[in-house]
Amino acid sequence: MTYYILFILGLGIGSFLNVVTMRYKEDGLVFGRHIVFGRSHCPNCKKVLKWYELIPVISFILQLGRCRSCKEKMSYQYPLIEIITALIFVSVPYYFFVYQKEMFVGISDNFLIEYSVIWVLVFLSLLTIGVIDYRKYIVPDELVVLIALLGIGWTILLFESNNFSAITGSFIGSYADLFNLRENLWINHLVGSILGLLAIGAIFFGTRGAAIGFGDVKLFGALGLLFGYPDIFLVFFLSFTTGAIFSLPLLVRKLKGMKDFVPFAPFIIIASFLVFFFGNDILRLYFDLFQFQL
Ligand SMILES: [Zn+2]
Repeated sequence: MTYYILFILGLGIGSFLNVVTMRYKEDGLVFGRHIVFGRSHCPNCKKVLKWYELIPVISFILQLGRCRSCKEKMSYQYPLIEIITALIFVSVPYYFFVYQKEMFVGISDNFLIEYSVIWVLVFLSLLTIGVIDYRKYIVPDELVVLIALLGIGWTILLFESNNFSAITGSFIGSYADLFNLRENLWINHLVGSILGLLAIGAIFFGTRGAAIGFGDVKLFGALGLLFGYPDIFLVFFLSFTTGAIFSLPLLVRKLKGMKDFVPFAPFIIIASFLVFFFGNDILRLYFDLFQFQL
């Protein structure tokens, strides 16, 4: 029952995220007045939308994906972002309470709720960054700062709830022990941020900003603070792997030439998502494949 309510709530918040990303301008604030308080209208005919044209997903389906007034096709971004947001609202608590329950044995339900709140906010921020980068090739600084603050909040919360997966606070579970982890969470998260910056900074300066933008570098520093060491390396590795898997067919089919710019933040975000949900499973698969015994 709770999950149904969270899903519906997510659809509504997703609708708001659509507004934020659609109205975002390069020189403006992500949460500026015109973004938060303006009335929604059709981007084509400018007609102000009625409440029944603004119901997440349902309006899109009933109107067969077209504006009621001018019949112009609506972007698939609208229902897609709404559904992804709803899935974030459902899957984050599911992760802590059900899917990776054994990693959080001994943590009270109240802490698990606080964990969920932090990570729902993380993924909402990341989703917004991803859409804005995809549309405008920009990673907004205020959202990067928000991720860094959530990283600090997360570290404080881990500290308070303490016995998180035997000291680590890592999403790769016991595999984190292989990486000479320090017992001090703050050191792990600071080191994660610095190493993340160094790794991505090397790519940025090595390619002279051809492969990735400086916004991606800043985002990585914030994610390092959030994920900590060693998880940030898995985020790093998976960002480039998913980026390559996606870009290769495009290059082969020549839809995009080598010089065309592919926004990188969406891959960082997919990688963050994979590490959070499946980091432990990915490493288990890796070590099973190579017959490595812990
Ligand atoms: Zn219209």
